Amino acid sequence: MYQANADRYNQIAYRRCGRSGLKLPAISLGLWHNFGDVDVQENCRNMLRLAFDNGITHFDLANNYGPPPGSAEENFGRILHQDFSSYRDELIISTKAGYTMWDGPYGDWGSKKYLVSSLDQSLKRMKLEYVDIFYHHRPDPETPLEETMTALDLIVRQGKALYVGLSNYRTAEATKALQILRSLGTPCLIHQPKYSMFERWIEDDGLLDLLEKEGVGCIPFSPLAQGMLTDKYLKGIPADSRAAKSHGFLQESQITPEKLQQIQELNKLAQQRGQTLAQMALAWILKDKRITSVLIGVSKTQQLADCLDSLKKTDFSESELAAIEKILLA
Ligand code: NDP
Repeated sequence: MYQANADRYNQIAYRRCGRSGLKLPAISLGLWHNFGDVDVQENCRNMLRLAFDNGITHFDLANNYGPPPGSAEENFGRILHQDFSSYRDELIISTKAGYTMWDGPYGDWGSKKYLVSSLDQSLKRMKLEYVDIFYHHRPDPETPLEETMTALDLIVRQGKALYVGLSNYRTAEATKALQILRSLGTPCLIHQPKYSMFERWIEDDGLLDLLEKEGVGCIPFSPLAQGMLTDKYLKGIPADSRAAKSHGFLQESQITPEKLQQIQELNKLAQQRGQTLAQMALAWILKDKRITSVLIGVSKTQQLADCLDSLKKTDFSESELAAIEKILLA
């Protein structure tokens, strides 16, 4: 029988999500990779236990996570009921719909038909009565925004989700969506964009400013650029890495000589700060108070422990920040 660490709430900081009543751990764990049927289930279980024992209360899923699609929710649901059923009220469980999930016109994008049926399927796979956060996973260029936002509002009113979020919405479309959600009485809790040292559109596009103004939280995904912002690719492609896996979303071709040069230099800077590169990359995001939580992925418990230690040093001197900019602009 799993007994959670009694001291778990003294391990990590919790940050308020925008101007909502909800606090999230500074680090959240995502199940996009490493929790599918292709993965070792005992390892999945150990990673979830270590996360919760260290105060990570927030787990992020989507209908299509696996492979195969849906299997991450099924595996998470099984482990949840084995180990965490008595802790349900201490957990924030997120899922999403918006990418292709099943064949035909109702298994993709942003119609009310798709979002409502997809969440029903997710709840069955995880054997849950409700999720804490339900996201629209990506904007739909064809469905009217009013329909998608009304579906999110409906889902909350039905009690199938407590809060709603948006993911991958650019600033202009997010502005409209936030306004519709507020007018419906279901304000958007959180936005989930891609953001890391290598991916900075949310700074230039004004998204962070919009979220701050509107009191919406921000939880960047792929903060380690899928593993590139670590030291793992400095000596080639390890056999057990995401870039080496046929089902991994990181392609070897993305790890270019120019990127490796930057990674090498960032790694040196991290060492001077007494951190691993993964720790420095997470700390660099968390230094901005507009960020609620960083949403990491891990394939091993050691990686999770390493990432958690990033919280020991999240401040940067002006010269360190300038050195990072110089490396990234090179
Ligand atoms: P990261 O950028 O954190 O990359 C995770 C990978 O980095 C791990 O699988 C591992 O690679 C490597 N890694 C992590 N920690 C360490 C460490 N300390 N040392 C060395 N390597 C490390 O995030 P993800 O790309 O996995 O995304 C995180 C979550 O964000 C997803 O699980 C999902 O929940 C969400 N997401 C949302 C999207 C959206 O559209 N809304 C899109 C993508 C992700 P390896 O496996 O090679 O060991």
